[in-house]
Amino acid sequence: MNYREFGKTGEKISALGFGCMRFPEYKEGEQMFVDQDKVDEMIAYAYENGVNYFDTAPGYCNQHSEAALGRAVKNFRDKILLSTKCPMDKGMGREGYRRRLEHSLEQLGTDHVDFYHFWGINRGVFDDLILGEGLLEEAAKAKAEGLIRHISFSFHDHPSAIQHIADTAEARGIPMESMLCQYNLLDRSNEEMMKYVHDKGLGTVAMGPVGGGRLAAPTDLYAKLTGKPSISTYELAFKFCLGNPSLCCALSGMQTLDMVQKNVKVASDDTAFSAGEWEQLGKAMEEIRKFSELYCTGCKYCQPCTVGIDIPRIFEMWTYYNVYGLKDHAKNMWKDYVRRGGKTFDDCIGCEACESKCPQHLEIIKNLEMVCNTLKG
Ligand code: SF4
Ligand code: SF4
Repeated sequence: MNYREFGKTGEKISALGFGCMRFPEYKEGEQMFVDQDKVDEMIAYAYENGVNYFDTAPGYCNQHSEAALGRAVKNFRDKILLSTKCPMDKGMGREGYRRRLEHSLEQLGTDHVDFYHFWGINRGVFDDLILGEGLLEEAAKAKAEGLIRHISFSFHDHPSAIQHIADTAEARGIPMESMLCQYNLLDRSNEEMMKYVHDKGLGTVAMGPVGGGRLAAPTDLYAKLTGKPSISTYELAFKFCLGNPSLCCALSGMQTLDMVQKNVKVASDDTAFSAGEWEQLGKAMEEIRKFSELYCTGCKYCQPCTVGIDIPRIFEMWTYYNVYGLKDHAKNMWKDYVRRGGKTFDDCIGCEACESKCPQHLEIIKNLEMVCNTLKG
């Protein structure tokens, strides 16, 4: 396993992190349960092969992920870094933060969390809740008491908000210590800000190296660039993430032991991309995307939609599904989007406010219907 300095946290983190949002589950009656035996086997294999970062959250796997992870790591808890997240609700206040933290500690069966994230924040949540309701100070208090070791955030917003969050927290004297954000070879929008915070000393973790499906053209491209045989999609996706020197750890939501074994193998491999190969691959990905009949550039001119539909996000899923052929990945993105309360074509009122603003002249309404129906099917 390869390891990296985790910003200035003083920790060494494995290049592969274990995302605990897709543990194997089974149904009994109307309820879903985590298959603990399989989880134990997967987590033990990852640990024995050098993975030391395990990331969960209260809502994952029908609220069962934290407890399942806690049970799976109980024999080596002190040898690993446990990460979980604090759900953000307006009006939760400092007591709400504390209650959520104590609940997670209980679920995980531990007396401290190594990285405790303000979960899925944007600029508004940071300003109104984290600053406005004193949550940053409450996090500092929990850290002083030893309940959490590092203050972190996970992020869903326009990349420019990352700088605001990191700089403002630092100016308050309670700096963020690590950041978890979306980043993979198909979505590089956070790349510049990852470098910004990494240069400042934050640890960086990326969620969503791409799995499943087959990126035929790019994997062949890899062969052309390196003169080596073509590689699998998951290997390409990992190598791309890990080729970024501003990234400390690539998180993968692993569902099976086979996936764990494959990912461990890639993250233990020493043959990284050269800087030149890495650049060329990134450019080639953008070229492929331009051939799509639904080429949304993600410019967001169509936003805000009257009812709050995240049109560029949904079209992004279509690119994964249709252009790159990553159907399972796109469907997982869709499920996550809907689970977070994301609006879909079902909410569209046909006001046409979006179409006149699109520089690509996309028939947004028609395409939105087609994409949403495909992804939910
Ligand atoms: S037509 Fe539909 S998608 Fe476009 S702005 Fe109106 S509600 Fe939103
Ligand atoms: S305006 Fe058009 S190209 Fe830009 S994000 Fe919206 S749909 Fe995509």
